[in-house]
Amino acid sequence: MASSLLINIAELLRRAGSIREVDRQIDASEFDFADERIVAGSKVDVGLTLEALTDGIVVHGTLQADWRCECRRCLRPLTGRAQIQVQELYQAVISDPDAYPITGEQLDLVEMARENVLLAVPLAPLCRADCAGLCPQCGADLQSTPCSCSGEMRDERWAALDALKTDESQ
Ligand SMILES: [Zn+2]
Ligand SMILES: [Zn+2]
Repeated sequence: MASSLLINIAELLRRAGSIREVDRQIDASEFDFADERIVAGSKVDVGLTLEALTDGIVVHGTLQADWRCECRRCLRPLTGRAQIQVQELYQAVISDPDAYPITGEQLDLVEMARENVLLAVPLAPLCRADCAGLCPQCGADLQSTPCSCSGEMRDERWAALDALKTDESQ
């Protein structure tokens, strides 16, 4: 089955400076995200401009995708819609190491869109910056159900986890 993000670029390749708009809604299943953060059955909005250069095609615009995951502390379900600005280069003869390949007269936007969406959806979000999480002793959701366990163990645990997250993001 031909992907709806396989774009014929014969016209673009003929003349540097020419432009083509790609504006569509694509079912998330077409991207094979294989990532449970992307809402199954949702639509990915693709609004991209393809612009021919002398040595490639630059693709810029926005992608939007629905995600869902859990607060990393209290496991409360969270949802959102990621708005992703993209600016990517495609080349028939790769001279930029970050460029995507052009094969023949087709531009395949799927892999590029897939990578950009997966990078943009949150990995380990918090429902709120000061989410108190679950009590490690009794399992109570401390935001709504304060418990009478000692808080010490819990605070140390979050401090260690937060330190880990900070390391990862550096
Ligand atoms: Zn939370
Ligand atoms: Zn408790």
